Amino acid sequence: MQDPSNLFTVALGLQSPWEVSDVRFEPEAGEIHFEVACTARRLSCPACGADEQPVHDSRKRSWQHLHFFQYRAYLHAQVPRVRCGKCGKTSQVAVPWARPRSGFTLLFEALVVTLSQRMPVRQVAALLGVNPGRLWQALGALVEGAREQESFEGVRRIGVDEKHVGRLGYITLFHDADRRRVLFGTPGRDGATFERFCEDLASHGGSPEAIEAVSMDFSGAFQAAAAKHLPAARRCLDPFHLVKLANAALDEVRRAEVKQEASLRGIRWGTLKDAHDWTGPQLVKMHWLQRSGLKTARAWRLKERLREILRQGREGSFPLEALRAWVSWARRCRLLPFKRLGATVRDHLEAICEGYRLGLSNGTAESLNATVQAAIVRARGFRTQRNLMSVIYLVAGKLTHLPAPPFANASITT
Ligand SMILES: [Zn+2]
Repeated sequence: MQDPSNLFTVALGLQSPWEVSDVRFEPEAGEIHFEVACTARRLSCPACGADEQPVHDSRKRSWQHLHFFQYRAYLHAQVPRVRCGKCGKTSQVAVPWARPRSGFTLLFEALVVTLSQRMPVRQVAALLGVNPGRLWQALGALVEGAREQESFEGVRRIGVDEKHVGRLGYITLFHDADRRRVLFGTPGRDGATFERFCEDLASHGGSPEAIEAVSMDFSGAFQAAAAKHLPAARRCLDPFHLVKLANAALDEVRRAEVKQEASLRGIRWGTLKDAHDWTGPQLVKMHWLQRSGLKTARAWRLKERLREILRQGREGSFPLEALRAWVSWARRCRLLPFKRLGATVRDHLEAICEGYRLGLSNGTAESLNATVQAAIVRARGFRTQRNLMSVIYLVAGKLTHLPAPPFANASITT
């Protein structure tokens, strides 16, 4: 019969000179421990690559690995240090199953990444029996490592969006409109965010001068910063930002009216949601609203009409005339927030149409925003800016150098 240690060597995907020398079950603790040994006496020098250098001594290290059935699994190894006759350095060799300095195996990290793209990190930590702080640390390092290798060389058209994230305040996100990925996020929502974006773009092989189009909201700070930092970029407005403004205007009307009209209580989500997504009670309430003759009902119709025009624009019918008609309706509607919005749309008609002409009104900003927002809601708060950005890049960064899902190729050697 085969030695069980050999079976585990195979199960863990270890290759010579590494093999499992001992296996310890600790059923009460729910743990299984693998002792991994290096059988070689001579190894290549990690510093200069010289072959056949003598092993000087070794240091004990441990890594958490994928669960074996219900058991948390740990690898332990005496990791050799090589004393090199050629370069004179004594250095620890790299192990094939883990990144340098990580306390998790590569497969474990791959699982962490895969899970964290789908569920809150605190849940991943509970599921895998790991301290959340350690998990955040590993995720941060993995995301930053993956981002370092990312190329932004071909980025030509971008979108910019600000976002409020609980007590962390505002962040500004820059996305690649063609590859539909978040490129960069940074605290604040002023012109300095563009400066930091341009630095980051350049450090990834991109060029601010090569940006041909930028879509963003109406903020004066963004417009001026784009003119300054992205000199060749045509500036346009994404319909997504218009809908955001229309929702804010609607909310303002509703908040003012609800003070006199108690029956409006509890209607907020119905007015903001798409009609397809109404729940039963919301459906009843929204039908009531539409027959009510209230200001909120008029505001809702204005908002919905604007959405419809913008959607038609996306489907190919150029929205200029319909937008002009909407502006004149909004200007006459006797609802101050919509009169103001009407004036804003009128002043930016050209930039809105430019978005359609440049193909930057295709819903990328909206869908990326929805992905990021869903992850933020799931997390129910972030302790640090770094944690927040790790999650945003994980779910929306399309990072190509993250560890692959762990079961695609079940081997822990690289
Ligand atoms: Zn050497």
